[in-house]
Amino acid sequence: MNLLLKYFINTILPPRCIRCGKILAEQNGLCAECFQKISFVSEPHCKRCGFPFLSESEQYNSIGQLCGECMKERRPLFDLRRFAFIYDDESKNLILGFKFLDKTGYAETLANLLRRAGTDIWKENPDLLIPVPIHRRRLLERRYNQSALLVKELAKQTGIAANYTALQRVRHTVPQVELSGSARRNNLRRAFAVKDVSKIKGRKVVLVDDVETTGSTLKECAKVLKKAGAVKIYALTLSRPVK
Ligand SMILES: [Zn+2]
Ligand SMILES: [Zn+2]
Repeated sequence: MNLLLKYFINTILPPRCIRCGKILAEQNGLCAECFQKISFVSEPHCKRCGFPFLSESEQYNSIGQLCGECMKERRPLFDLRRFAFIYDDESKNLILGFKFLDKTGYAETLANLLRRAGTDIWKENPDLLIPVPIHRRRLLERRYNQSALLVKELAKQTGIAANYTALQRVRHTVPQVELSGSARRNNLRRAFAVKDVSKIKGRKVVLVDDVETTGSTLKECAKVLKKAGAVKIYALTLSRPVK
């Protein structure tokens, strides 16, 4: 962008921290203070699901650098999973603001965090970025699918193709947070469908979402994609809570 133009835009609409709203010298998303408060995932973490080893003993016990959960999986649904930061009281408003308060300007900064968290996934040369879809009815209420906004930005930043229609949410479901255990699994049954198999078959697909609470939504999407012939499935999310 023209420097003078950039100067004027920054004077009229100064860049702000997406977490606390403080005016920033440059548009880099988060102020130093907020950056410190977010628990970003760093090494050592599980090589498959990306979950950080929080204690030294956990790290010591992990054979092949896998966490306990991943060691139990015989045929993993995901080839790799990564997320950017832990979902906690400090990071919550980042996600919720993006989801419900129409702060769609967040997308660029958050996609940047996703791109950094996905380094190991990019090394695998994936073919396609796919957002976890929301049902038409919810799209009307909220006016945008936050995951699709992230994918749009991420596609720009990585140069990887995006597809917004091949995977669809065909059934309106109760939000997962309002349910527990088995009700959650039943709730999502047949909620997703691949509408265009030719777009998925033989592809290495990255599923993108903002926050994964139980992981059941991502798993349902992955099952449907696998059935449609996806050869590799990766999951990239902004945030996950600590179990
Ligand atoms: Zn801040
Ligand atoms: Zn793991």
